[in-house]
This record gives sequence, structure tokens and C-alpha cells, in this order.
Amino acid sequence: MHEIFGPEGLISKAHPEYEHRPGQIEMAEAVLRAFEQKHHLIVEAGTGTGKTLAYLVPAIAAACGSGARVVISTGTKNLQEQLMDKDIPFLQDVLPAKFRAAVMKGRNNYACLHRIRRAESMPVLEGLDQIDQFDEVFRWVTKTETGDRAELSNLPENLPFWRHIDARSDICLGQQCPDFEPCFITRMRQRAIDADIVVVNHHLFFADLALRNGAYGAVLPDYAAVILDEAHQIEDVASEYFGTQVSTYQIDDLLRDVGILKIEEGGAERELARISARIQRFADIFWISFSEGRGLEGRFALAPNMRGSSPTPGSPAGESGWGGTVRESSEADQTSALPADALTDAYFALDNTLNRLETTLDVLKDTPTDAENIVRRTRQLRFDLNFIMKGEDKKFVYWLERRGRGVFLRASPIDVSGLLQDKLFQKVPTVILTSATLSSAGNFNFIRERLGLDDAEEMIAESIFDFENQAVLYLPPRMPDPRSLQWASAAAEEVIKILNATEGRAFVLSTSLSGMNELYERVSPQLDFPCLLQGSASKGALLRKFRNTPNAVLFATSSFWQGVDVRGEQLSCVIIDKLPFAVPSDPVVAARQRYIEDQGGSSFYEYSVPQAIISLKQGLGRLIRSTTDRGVLAVLDPRIRTKMYGQAFLQSLPPCRITSEIDELARVFENQVSGSKFQVSGSTIG
Ligand code: SF4
Repeated sequence: MHEIFGPEGLISKAHPEYEHRPGQIEMAEAVLRAFEQKHHLIVEAGTGTGKTLAYLVPAIAAACGSGARVVISTGTKNLQEQLMDKDIPFLQDVLPAKFRAAVMKGRNNYACLHRIRRAESMPVLEGLDQIDQFDEVFRWVTKTETGDRAELSNLPENLPFWRHIDARSDICLGQQCPDFEPCFITRMRQRAIDADIVVVNHHLFFADLALRNGAYGAVLPDYAAVILDEAHQIEDVASEYFGTQVSTYQIDDLLRDVGILKIEEGGAERELARISARIQRFADIFWISFSEGRGLEGRFALAPNMRGSSPTPGSPAGESGWGGTVRESSEADQTSALPADALTDAYFALDNTLNRLETTLDVLKDTPTDAENIVRRTRQLRFDLNFIMKGEDKKFVYWLERRGRGVFLRASPIDVSGLLQDKLFQKVPTVILTSATLSSAGNFNFIRERLGLDDAEEMIAESIFDFENQAVLYLPPRMPDPRSLQWASAAAEEVIKILNATEGRAFVLSTSLSGMNELYERVSPQLDFPCLLQGSASKGALLRKFRNTPNAVLFATSSFWQGVDVRGEQLSCVIIDKLPFAVPSDPVVAARQRYIEDQGGSSFYEYSVPQAIISLKQGLGRLIRSTTDRGVLAVLDPRIRTKMYGQAFLQSLPPCRITSEIDELARVFENQVSGSKFQVSGSTIG
């Protein structure tokens, strides 16, 4: 690895600005050992380590040496693009070994040829403006090599008809499809089979892992090793794909596809139309139960009202697992719902008509392939709906999400550690987990416990940044308790003082939307700097504006806490309002916490604190992105100093200086602007 990463190494020769980084070599050697000795490895590599090259080089060596493919999975699109557009082409030029790399995105990024052909003869468009857009997609699909919608840069990101023509797994006919050979998924898979390195995202990786060994849906070719970058996101993504869900969209899509089936038998066609109308009617009644009341967007617990017996279709009404159906995040948010009996009736009626659809299609003579696909989807839908409605498996949490026009009923495994052990860590000889934020209070106990990773080497790679001189942590004196009535005005006052000292150039990150809005409303009228607010434009547009607007201040929440990269003076300050504890009323968080308590543990110390530390580190990681960056981190929450657990937060942050003197911030920035060294008095942490 020294020959590649060392001061006189191949990378240094090819890249005049390359800085030799001991932490990078150390990480590369650890990754190489993990490949050679076939063990798992956890590496925390903060910004400035150069972690992507540190795992790519040994991954390429391992793949070329053994001929066994390595999969690299990322959490964000930015990182995937960095790997494919920058790091991998660079290494293809620099390294003597010749290797091939391919990218695979989630299936719904690709057009489905079969659905597009069908769409020509039936309406998928909801407005006149979509006619031109559809024509453009249709012309593009005859020319594109990849079928990746990212190529359609002229069209809006949210094309309303895209979901009717994308290549998602549940609608796929697999090898029975008449377009299987030219299919973009088949071609993507072939490119991946020919590659040594395959770059995917976590959603595709875990969707594939959940479906592996099944007949449909799995797309990744076999691999000998996997590198999971941005691995702090894995628990949530795995939980999504190892769980199950039923949505309003699923039933709408099913009915739509029944409507366009080409059935020769006239009697069967009429019968299907009757059944579809009944399914629609019962589905409408069923969904009313979950969308009435205040109909707020968000995630809510499904409450077992009458747990006495299971809602087995055919059993008397009222003996359901779920009645009253929805318990909102707080008692005050109670949703009105159908009475339990009515919901159970609606569910049984829906299930019966879905069953009728299944049997009617099953007995058709000369069943078209599309009909077989609908039978399979209907069977799965009934199974999933029954699983959720029963709500009997104690290893799952049952919940509801309202997003846009959709309602999603979900069952998620509360603890994914056993599933990950069975499906990943025991099956794949080398799994590398890396991220800038995986440890808390200097150890990996939390991530090991959450992911079931008992048997893995671990390391924290040293960053090249000189945090002691590049950053200062400002903890304001005398802040009230964040739950008190005085909090909002005191926080706003502090934010104004800090921003005046830093001349804006800041992200103000809140742990909740309401906190963000309140700070924005109180602070922005008092400032002479341009203020931007999350939600006022797309994330990309806001970031572009922030980068291009001198002294801008962006008020945002968790979506700006990770995967955002603003280098240089433009981002000189990150203010975090409260310690980012996960919302305890979130149904999945609450279930995980209950599970830990039931096992005799402390959910606060074993889950909430380490999880919040990792989130805080993510937020603060936005600030220092290069060796020349300078900046102020500010945490307004006084609990970081007044509570025992606050020490764990402080120990987990980069070793920067801390101060409570606002005047020192001003001096720091006067110094920075004039180009002198960034110095503040105060103690040092870490
Ligand atoms: S194989 Fe599946 S994804 Fe490909 S064209 Fe056919 S139905 Fe669409």
C-alpha cells in the first residue's frame, strides 16, 4: 500500500496536490488484511481521511487477484457519483491492474420496455403537458443504452407517469417477459456480471439481499465481499427491506394493470371488470380508516385495539388484531378511524374480492404472462395485508406512514441484527463497514449491537485535519432547558449573536421542522444576511444558492445533516439547536427502545445517547471539509455540559477547542478573514 499511497507512491506521482495521509494507508492496509484473511472490519474514517481510495485500492487488488467480484454500497447519490465519476476513473488511469467497474441503481431508476410498450396503447397520462414529456421519454428509450432516467435531464425530477413505466421488481415478468433480452435491467446486470467492482446504493443492496434466492427481484450478481460506505444508515435501510408494506399505490397499480389485461374471453373480461370495481370500493372504505381525522403526514403507530384474536379472513367481524387502527404520536393527535367492526368488515371484504380476482385469473384459459404476474402480486398483497392486520409477530413493529397522496401500512423488524447475521455476515466472508461516524465515546459497541456484528476487526482512521487549529466549539453560557418555555427566545438570541460574529456563512440545523421554522421566524428579520429556509426550494437549488450567495444563512433540519458538502469560507459555522435524540414517539424508535428495556437494558444509554452522538457528529462534519477550512461549531443545548451523558458527546467530537465567550468568536473571524492563524483560548477536548 505504501507503493500506492506513500509520499513517492503512484497516487502522489499522478496527483500533484495529493497529500500523504498516514490514516489512509493504515485504513487501506486494514481493508487489505480483511480481504486476505476473510474477516469483517468496521472503520470509522472521518472527513479528511481519504477513505474512498483507502478501500477502493485494496478492493481492486482483491477482485483482480482472486477474480471474485466486490460490491461497494453507498448511502447517498453524491458518494455514488464521486466513486463512478472521479475515484474509479482516476484509479483506472493510475493503477497497473486493469479492472472493470459498473454502477447499478435501484430498479425504479430504469425504464421498463414492456410497460412502455403497453403504455403506448393505454392512458398513463394525467394532463396534456405530459403528452410531450411522454413522447420525449418514448424517443429516448429507443436510443438510450442504459435506460437510466438520470439521462432525462430536461424533464422534471418527479415525472408523474414514471411510476407506470419504471422497472420495479413486483411488476417484472422476469424471464417470461417478451422484452427480457433487450431489457435495461438485464443489460445492467450483464454489465455488473462482467465487472470486478460493482457500485450500488444501500436501497438496492438490501432489496436484493431480502430477495436473494427468490425467483423474482434479485438483481446483483454473486459477490465475494461487500464494502458498505455511509454504514451508519444501514440499520434503517435493512429494517425497511426486511419488513413488509402495503400501500394505496400498490392497490391502484394492481387495478390499473387488471384494466389493461388483454383477455380473449368476453365473459371473463366482464367478470374482471366487476371484481375490479368491488376491490376499488372496499379498498376505498378500508383506506378511509387510515386517512381520516387530521390526516397529518408522518409516521404513526398502529395500535392493537382488540388483540384477543387474529383477523383471519372468514372469522366473525370484530375479532381483529387492529381495531380503532391508528394511534398517533401523541394522545392529542388521535385520528378518527372507522369503528373496529367496520374496519374488520372492510378488510375481509377487500381480502375476499382480492381472492376472487386471484381465482378468476387462475382459471383463465391461455393465461397471458401479465395475468400470472397479477396473480402473484395479488397473492403477495393478501399475504402482506394479513400479516400486518394480524399484527401477531412480536418481532415486528406495525406502523402507518402518510406521505403525499399515499398511505403505507408497514411491518418492520424491531431488531435486524439476527437477520443481518444470517443473510449477510455469515454468508459473505468479508464485509467492510465504514463511515465518518460509526463510533460513540470512542467505541463501536452501539453499531456492533444494532447490526449483530460480533466478529469484526475495528479501527478509527486518523484524519488529516488539524481540528485544534481549524475549528472551535462554542457552547453558550446560561442556556435554559430545551424543553422550557424560555428556550425559543434564548436560542434565537444566541443564534443572532453567533451569526453576527461569523458574518452569516452558516447552517442553522434544527432537530425538528417546528424548531427550524420558529428559529427562522425569530432570527431572520433581525439579520442583515440573506436567509434561506429548507422547503422553500429543492435541496439542490438551496445548496447552489447557499454556495453562490455571500454570507448566506441556511435554516434546515436533518436532511442537511449528512451528504452535504460545502467547502471553503462560504460555510464557516454550523449551529445545532438541540442534541439530536431520535423522536421517541416515532413508532420504530419507540419499538426499538421498548425491546431494549424488555431485555433488561437501558434504552437511553444503549440506544438514544449513542444514536444522538452519531447524528451530532454527522451535523458537525459539514463544517471542516478540507485542510484550509476554518469554522465555528455551536451547540446550543446546555445538556451537553450539565448532564452526565454530555461527557460522552464531548468525548466523541473532533478534538477542537471549546469556548463560551462570544467575543472570542468575533476575534477568531477577524483573524480568519485577515488570513492569520485561527486561534482561540479555551480548553481542548478529545
Ligand atoms: S424483464 Fe421486467 S423490467 Fe425488463 S422489460 Fe420485462 S418486465 Fe420490464
